[in-house]
Amino acid sequence: MELNSLYQEVILDHYKRPHHKGLSELKDIQVHHVNPSCGDEVTLNLSISGGIVSDISWDGVGCSISQASTSIMTDLVIGQTVAHAYKILDNFSDLMASKGTMVGDEALLDDAVALAGVSKFPARVKCALLGWMAFKDASVQAIDGSEKA
Ligand code: ZN
Repeated sequence: MELNSLYQEVILDHYKRPHHKGLSELKDIQVHHVNPSCGDEVTLNLSISGGIVSDISWDGVGCSISQASTSIMTDLVIGQTVAHAYKILDNFSDLMASKGTMVGDEALLDDAVALAGVSKFPARVKCALLGWMAFKDASVQAIDGSEKA
């Protein structure tokens, strides 16, 4: 894979020193997502409080892209409203679907723009999206649960 070297450093940094990794006791919902095509796994604990993503913790194994992307995602969405978190997620999904034609909105995506080059490699897009899809799944379940309660 050819990724810009600065971007590669951002990804490696998140891979080696992942943010919010290590499952916290605190959670409304736990999900476990796998990407069988690469062998990536992410377990994600999510707490939502008053429409705000109050906490995410996670654990996982797999390639640098899947683990770095999950780390980057937690930095971006913790503390945001669920609506804003979805806006970030949609924007990142569009970037991953762009087949290398988009550079990403750095104001919204911050470190996640480092993953823009991954969109040129369809086999790796699932790696990059794994943690994000786990967050989406967990948030839908958390919101469903709180509406029924
Ligand atoms: Zn992977």
